[in-house]
Amino acid sequence: MTTALAGKVAIITGGSKGIGSAITRELASNGVKVVVNYNQSKESAEAIVNEIKANGGEALAVQADVSYCDQAERLVEETKKQFGQLDILVNNAGITRDRSFKKLGEEDWKKVIDVNLNSVYNTTTAALSHLLEAEAGRVVNISSIIGQAGGFGQTNYAAAKAGLIGFTKSLALELARTGVTVNAICPGFIETEMVMAIPENVREQIVAKIPARRFGHAEEIARGVLFLCQDGSYITGQQLNINGGLYM
Ligand code: NAP
Repeated sequence: MTTALAGKVAIITGGSKGIGSAITRELASNGVKVVVNYNQSKESAEAIVNEIKANGGEALAVQADVSYCDQAERLVEETKKQFGQLDILVNNAGITRDRSFKKLGEEDWKKVIDVNLNSVYNTTTAALSHLLEAEAGRVVNISSIIGQAGGFGQTNYAAAKAGLIGFTKSLALELARTGVTVNAICPGFIETEMVMAIPENVREQIVAKIPARRFGHAEEIARGVLFLCQDGSYITGQQLNINGGLYM
């Protein structure tokens, strides 16, 4: 395959489901060797790896709960062992534990911060030396419109996703001279299990407020990741909003 990204190696955390699976497929179909990280979804990780291999690509599934430093380190080590390099890190893994603040317990606060924000420290710190060795290293953090605008019942998630934006800008500043770019994508409401878990009547109210009058598709986020990785050598520290006009 002769795309600009052919032969590059990417880790996609939470790469077997929802937005992550669309990113995995998009990068793989552009010749990237993909490491599909999963925590619980072994079957879907193996299925997507088999699908990519059947299409002539290279892929590896690696179980790791990226909210733990040692597991994130192992994820990066296994990537290096299998493919010998690491060019692209997509920090996509995320969860919600929505509760109004009055009802939000410490466990739900900490879990969401651990999985959505501390995981990004864990993977990025493990990956950094390899990204610096790469010709044009890329970090893409999947943040959220909720980190920009807030969300009812989402103080934990909004804090994590806003934190990710600050992290992105600061690391981008530190790495700009090295050629490694660091950007965030802020999706609006995208049709995945995470959004389909919202009660139908609430979903209808959300769609009515989206200027584009529909939820986004995971593939639309994946094409944003491809753009930043492929054509983004002069784009760093940015938030790419893919939200149907919901937040401008
Ligand atoms: P999803 O379908 O629920 O998928 C979440 C993914 O994260 C799964 O692959 C899951 O893997 C992985 N994950 C969760 N905890 C993990 C852990 N501790 N270690 C490793 N992987 C873990 O959600 P999605 O909608 O695709 O969301 C993907 C990202 O986009 C998230 O960061 C989310 O916050 C963000 N986002 C989504 C929307 C939306 O509307 N859907 C909007 C804005 C931002 P396992 O199943 O293997 O545990």
